[in-house]
Amino acid sequence: MTRPVSLLALVALVGMSACSLRSGVPDTDTVEEIREELDRTACRNRLDDLAFALRGLVLSDTTGSTDPARLCVLLDDSLLVCPATGGRYLIEEKGDEWVVRCPAGHGSESFEVP
Ligand SMILES: [Zn+2]
Repeated sequence: MTRPVSLLALVALVGMSACSLRSGVPDTDTVEEIREELDRTACRNRLDDLAFALRGLVLSDTTGSTDPARLCVLLDDSLLVCPATGGRYLIEEKGDEWVVRCPAGHGSESFEVP
């Protein structure tokens, strides 16, 4: 006696799930936007790590030299490239400020050098 009711409920549940799944799938533009945002976030986190590591090297360097190329040799290569594109980060000296920038336009980080 209860079986037809249960079967009807199951059919209704499956139907509702299928409808909600179909309407819950993001469109291609949204997927692309989410992927770009994830790439940008991953890149900004790495830029932050790179700026922190470089600043630490500058502060601990006793030679008084602040040559980015010389200091970057001391860092892991994975820290020097964008995680999304693999493009090598640009490091600029602007007086007492250093700027590390992603060539793909994901962002930049800067820090003061004493
Ligand atoms: Zn990047």
